Amino acid sequence: MSAPDLYAVFGNPIAHSRSPAIHAAFAAATGEDLRYEARLAPLAGFAGAIAEFVAAGGRGANVTVPFKEEACRLSNRLSERAARAGAVNTLTFSDGEICGDNTDGVGLVQDIAGNLGFPLSGRRILLLGAGGAARGAIAPLLAAKPASLHIANRSADKALALADLFADIAPVTTSNFAELTGKCFDLVINATSASLAGENLPLPEDLFAAGALAYDMMYGKGETPFLHWARIQGAARRADGLGMLVEQAAEAFRIWRGKRPDTAPVLAELRRQLTS
Ligand code: NDP
Repeated sequence: MSAPDLYAVFGNPIAHSRSPAIHAAFAAATGEDLRYEARLAPLAGFAGAIAEFVAAGGRGANVTVPFKEEACRLSNRLSERAARAGAVNTLTFSDGEICGDNTDGVGLVQDIAGNLGFPLSGRRILLLGAGGAARGAIAPLLAAKPASLHIANRSADKALALADLFADIAPVTTSNFAELTGKCFDLVINATSASLAGENLPLPEDLFAAGALAYDMMYGKGETPFLHWARIQGAARRADGLGMLVEQAAEAFRIWRGKRPDTAPVLAELRRQLTS
């Protein structure tokens, strides 16, 4: 019997990663024979860790903090969405080539429009943050044809620079947080890392339109600071980023194995583990 195909997620730190459990569940459900590991790459040794993995027969890899931009530079070929994002979270190794893709943004859109049943077309969207996660989300969000997309960031110049990169797709407006006063949105996505530090964003009141969804890319046990604030502010619907995590993994699995697994049972099990 031949050895299972080898995949891994590379990050630093990596011990917390739920990707091995997610991909093991996808493999079991689809009957794919693969092994998926979490691998710690040294901060200054990402390229070496990937080379070693490829030499050992690795077929593909996911990439997480802080290596997504380095993975983009390491790729010989990039998908359009990875080139737009300037960041890669999915690598495929074949015929001596490293192909880079970015599935974070489609994972986000799939979670919001699919799992949460919140269509994006015609909506006024506010994206908070201008880091890697925000950058990966912009093209997929614009592809869903919202009425408008506004990016607000602590450093407004970064938001402006980001909007410029996508100006050929659609106009994107930008500001700092204070300048959001008086504006109103159907969907507010938190792509800052403020929740990770348990911090609240200095956002004005009345940002949420009737029926609005507040979405935090971060997830964890209990309510995130952003979702707590959104509830107090009266956001009709609130969701964390666990579904985005599972959906970006499903898209990576599809790229590697040609099959898109059913995400619902995997998401339900992860949610159960997180809340129990
Ligand atoms: P980056 O470090 O690239 O960007 C961080 C962003 O957060 C910047 O816009 C930064 O603003 C802003 N920020 C950080 N601290 C604060 C603060 N105290 N107040 C206001 N703004 C702040 O991070 P990523 O883009 O990679 O990740 C962002 C979040 O998305 C993380 O919580 C991460 O866990 C989550 N994520 C979730 C995924 C999922 O699958 N669910 C996938 C990827 C990311 P400034 O530019 O001013 O410094």
